Amino acid sequence: PSIIEVGSGKVVTKIGGGHLGMIAGPCAVESAERMDEIAGAVKAAGANLLRGGAFKPRTSPYSFQGLGEEGLKILREVGDKHGMPIVTEVTDPRNVELVAEYSDMIQLGARNMQNFVLLTEVGKTDKAVLMKRGMAATVKDLMMSAEYVLSQGNSKVVLCERGVKGFDNATRNIYDVCAVPQAQEMSHLPIIVDPSHATGRPELIPACALAGLAAGADGVHIEVHNCPEEAMSDGPQALLPEQYAELMAQLKKVAVAI
Ligand code: PEP
Ligand code: MN
Repeated sequence: PSIIEVGSGKVVTKIGGGHLGMIAGPCAVESAERMDEIAGAVKAAGANLLRGGAFKPRTSPYSFQGLGEEGLKILREVGDKHGMPIVTEVTDPRNVELVAEYSDMIQLGARNMQNFVLLTEVGKTDKAVLMKRGMAATVKDLMMSAEYVLSQGNSKVVLCERGVKGFDNATRNIYDVCAVPQAQEMSHLPIIVDPSHATGRPELIPACALAGLAAGADGVHIEVHNCPEEAMSDGPQALLPEQYAELMAQLKKVAVAI
């Protein structure tokens, strides 16, 4: 199994080969104050990577699109303050350089998993990459997309199962925990799970996070917000900081290496 290093200097998080990437933070970067509060809480709970979107891929063009570079600056400052490497999404090949300048790990979102131009540009950077499974992509498709990044010389790819579209809208997506052992059978790359986007329902997240680690995942990605009703995106699926802390305590019982 490959071990991917995220960050630089003293602030490095390893993912894979027994090292767990515990990614947490709000869906979007909204303000410095809010980011700081959430970062402090998730770090105290044991998270080792801070997330927050500055460029948001929204279904509606009228929804909040993210703070852009201002959001990247906030995330960088807050990550540095709390000693956490940061992960943030890039949605446009024209912004790859900008996002790479601020971040430690570049997220390729589900909607862009097969945006091959974007994958190729991200592959030219030296940043770690979080590649989310497309919502209608097979695990094999995910592997081929990872190859787009690897083939450009960037071997620091971490895969992420975040649910696929299904017929049952009781959950936001269908959580495919079986993708974890499948990916490990097919590849040396680490794979983490994202029960927040997979289920869209806070009450289902703990069981699905535990299932992911039990299945052998190399980490868990969770959205956390301190005031979900005011969140600019994905508020309904956010865990409160105290719920995240409770979940982390449970996860630590399953995986002592957190
Ligand atoms: C996100 O992480 O906020 C996100 C948009 O995720 P996904 O691409 O998995 O929908
Ligand atoms: Mn989100």
